[in-house]
Amino acid sequence: MSTGPNAGRKIPSRTIILGEPFRVELVPDLLSDDEAVSGETLGESHRIRINASLDTEKQWRTFIHESLHSGLHVNGYGNVSDSVTEEMIVQTLEYVVVQMIRQHGKQLLEVFGDD
Ligand SMILES: [Zn+2]
Repeated sequence: MSTGPNAGRKIPSRTIILGEPFRVELVPDLLSDDEAVSGETLGESHRIRINASLDTEKQWRTFIHESLHSGLHVNGYGNVSDSVTEEMIVQTLEYVVVQMIRQHGKQLLEVFGDD
């Protein structure tokens, strides 16, 4: 059992996005089209893959980022916009979400609870 400073902060192996279950996999040296990437979403198979060589904070940031892609996929928006536009939208939302959590994380947890 891990007891380091990041114990309990491990990326979950599954998550629910807009009602749909997704598997989350930590993959060593993740490649997409032969390029090293932080993460990728395989929407059709409901899988999120995260590069295991990232540090914990980057893994969680990537988890948020890929969850946003997954949400767009579930809602069908992935077919509406081109991949460059989608990436711009998802990156912007990722920054907003991370900043919201940094500024207001405790209040957000109090209001929305931990499910
Ligand atoms: Zn992306």
